[in-house]
Amino acid sequence: MSLLIKNGQIITAEKDFFADVYIKNEKVNLIEQNLDRDAQDIIDAKGKYVIPGGIDVHTHLDMPYGEITSSDDFETGTIAASFGGTTSIIDFATQSKGKSLQDAFNIWQKKAKGKAVIDYGFHMIITELPDSQLAEMDELINNGITSFKMFMAYPDRLMLDDNTIFKAMKQAQKNGSLILIHAENGIEIDEIVKNALAEGKTAPIFHALTRPAETEGEAVERSIELAEKSGCSLYIVHLSTNDGLEKISEARKKGFPVFAETCPQYLFLSLEDMNNQNFEDAKLIFTPPVREKWHQQKLWEGLINNQLQVVATDHCPFCFNGQKDLGKNDFTKIPSGGPGIENRMQLLFEGGVNGRRFSINRWVDLTSTTPAKLFGMYPKKGTIEIGSDADIVIWDPNKMHTISSETHHMNVDYSLYEGMKIQGSAETVISRGEIIISNNKFIGEVGRGRFIKRKKGNYNF
Ligand SMILES: [Zn+2]
Repeated sequence: MSLLIKNGQIITAEKDFFADVYIKNEKVNLIEQNLDRDAQDIIDAKGKYVIPGGIDVHTHLDMPYGEITSSDDFETGTIAASFGGTTSIIDFATQSKGKSLQDAFNIWQKKAKGKAVIDYGFHMIITELPDSQLAEMDELINNGITSFKMFMAYPDRLMLDDNTIFKAMKQAQKNGSLILIHAENGIEIDEIVKNALAEGKTAPIFHALTRPAETEGEAVERSIELAEKSGCSLYIVHLSTNDGLEKISEARKKGFPVFAETCPQYLFLSLEDMNNQNFEDAKLIFTPPVREKWHQQKLWEGLINNQLQVVATDHCPFCFNGQKDLGKNDFTKIPSGGPGIENRMQLLFEGGVNGRRFSINRWVDLTSTTPAKLFGMYPKKGTIEIGSDADIVIWDPNKMHTISSETHHMNVDYSLYEGMKIQGSAETVISRGEIIISNNKFIGEVGRGRFIKRKKGNYNF
């Protein structure tokens, strides 16, 4: 199979130039001006950007949550991702207590196989770690899982104590993997939640009000301390506050390999978007919660100054009707998570590039290149170079799009950004040399996505 992209403006994290791209056997074969090659397909990208496909390193597809599961599976979720210009994801496999890490890997492989339409990898969530299981971390690295996530929140389900986290960090220091932390002080939050419920505070907004910003700041600081002592590299997922950001900045100034992602919901939504006693607020329930609006500006500055290195989605959708309403009378019963996999590239383009906060190269860096580097996929993914996978998006910077649940492809009955107008959208999406989105249609084959056997990441930048 061969494909020629003519007349486009190629944008990578470092470069910006006009050239044609010739693709053969799933990979970028040639990048030159005025390329003349026979190809099965020719795309004229005049006036468009040619960018590496987006990489969303934080998704929860087909994720069990009590009796229900997140509403997108690997088919609907990855189709929606591809519409938005994302061509790789890393989802989270969760260890069941009493079972091996490999067991969770097998379960998640089955969920994705035959369904995913773009390439996918997994992080492993550790929920317990007796010494006898430490070697399982090393084994998983050989199988292409090179990042491990642990929770400082949810004491009754997922939280690990600091000793266990430290033990895993020491193992990561030895085996060269990356430790991901959900940084919220779960013990403190549970106490605040208990008191709120006792006072009859059951409306959705109390989900946000019972998880104060300081509980993120404290957990970020604690996880950095543990990481520094163990010598491992650390990545904070879904950072939502200035409290946490300040701790990350301090550690990075000292030269420690500490990284963090934020998500569009923390850049575009805030506590002010909640209506207080209205159950519609349940749509905005995810963890960490929306924050006071002033944090947004700080997070944007973090992206500009490279205190934050990645924007991922934490895509974990639940339908408003039939899922979110399980918590009609008690916010703690509302499934926590929101949709976003389809809109990440657009939102960052609108807020970052159109909003003149950062360059188009930085946009590519935050949404594709740095994720590829940190998670061991570079330069196979995350750039356009000879020999890299032909995961390429033809981005039309002038295409107008209005975000709406009426037209989105995610399997969820609302949008967090309903009615928002964006200038700039993916026009043609190519995954390993194959056009999968064209003329606003998905034309790929269901199940064509492949598991990405990741290498160890690069943590030296
Ligand atoms: Zn998550």
